[in-house]
Amino acid sequence: MKIDTLCVQGGYSPKCGEPRQVPIYQTTTFKYDTTEHMADLFDLKESGYFYTRLSNPTNDLTAKKIATLEGGVAAILTSSGQAANFFAIANLCNSGDHVVCSAQIYGGTFNLFNVSLRKLGIDFTFVSPDASEKEIQAAFRPNTKCLFGETVANPSGVILDIEKFANIAHLNGVPLIMDNTFPTPVLCRPFQFGCDIVTHATTKYIDGHSTQVGGCIVDSGNFDWAAHADKFPGLVEPDESYHGISYVEKFGKQAYIVKCTTHLMRDFGSIPSPFNAFLVNVGLESLHIRIRRHAESALKIAKWLKTQKKVAWVNFAGLPGSKYRKLVKKQFDGPSPCGVMTFGIKGGRKASIKFMDSLKLIGIVTHVADAWSCVLHPASHTHRQLTDAQLKAAGIPPDLIRLSIGLEDPEDLIADIKQALAKV
Ligand SMILES: *Cc1c(COP(=O)(O)O)cnc(C)c1O
Repeated sequence: MKIDTLCVQGGYSPKCGEPRQVPIYQTTTFKYDTTEHMADLFDLKESGYFYTRLSNPTNDLTAKKIATLEGGVAAILTSSGQAANFFAIANLCNSGDHVVCSAQIYGGTFNLFNVSLRKLGIDFTFVSPDASEKEIQAAFRPNTKCLFGETVANPSGVILDIEKFANIAHLNGVPLIMDNTFPTPVLCRPFQFGCDIVTHATTKYIDGHSTQVGGCIVDSGNFDWAAHADKFPGLVEPDESYHGISYVEKFGKQAYIVKCTTHLMRDFGSIPSPFNAFLVNVGLESLHIRIRRHAESALKIAKWLKTQKKVAWVNFAGLPGSKYRKLVKKQFDGPSPCGVMTFGIKGGRKASIKFMDSLKLIGIVTHVADAWSCVLHPASHTHRQLTDAQLKAAGIPPDLIRLSIGLEDPEDLIADIKQALAKV
């Protein structure tokens, strides 16, 4: 089936007389007739639901749909995008391990890696996403367990060359993990270019209506853990905390997601509420229509912004002059990778703030990538503790505005931007 059909019907095919929509199994637990049956579930001898922290039908059906959309073999939902990226790493790395990571990633992920995971003993080396293969290779160490990046970086909009990164990861015997939040599987499927594991903040386009915070991890099933058993004992060797099973031996291509469920979810417990999983699934049903409209409107507005005298610069990989033109053509379905762009107003920080305060239709919110168009000024909001010099070093000019194009009529959005520019 094509991706538009999978957005609607993927993961769930009700039988005669069953609910058309995925039901919300808002329950903590599930009842069994015998002690033995329940014991078999605990031993993973049989599959079945027993406690929602480990699995729940609403969560599983929604995860299955996202796995299908990405072309993966298994997926797990998490309570946030942050939890998804934390678990994606923690499922492979112990204290003393190391990760090579693109330097252009979401601020929350950067902090999780650079501060919190470092405190737990996992070390990171950050490399420019535009670095040469030699430079990226130089960052690897014997204890490196994965390579991490974002398909479209938030907020810088940098496009990562997935094939290049996948090749380097595989040469070093480790998987490539990519956060695919901004394009969603409708516009980019990283597994097609050699990526092994994908993460999402479903909070953004997948939900699309600002109704829940959530995340997802999808495994392609392609990485051969057993071939690198020395690097990934947690997946290959017997897990004493789980009755001595080897995940790879018992679950084959599902090993990574099963370990994530039975080990990390059991112990760290970052599951979404079944109601939130239901909202994610409803969002997925229209994702293919919405994300294409977001991308198309963003391209229209980016092109228009470029013609405006008061606009200093526009950064959007969909623009004809973008240095990522070739990569966009190769990796994305359509000319425009998402609905988010950045730009600056002539006159710097002050002018950008005046512009944002003058907007009427486009809201100032921390969020991004949903139905309502919005703006954020990183220098005043997410990165307000930095000086102008530090901002420059972090690749965030003080005048940078992040603009997320929603599903309104682009003409109305242009009219709003026009009247706000006039006030600068
Ligand atoms: C928002 C975001 C996250 C974090 O997701 P939350 O649901 O807010 O925890 C991770 N990665 C990217 C690319 C994001 O945009």
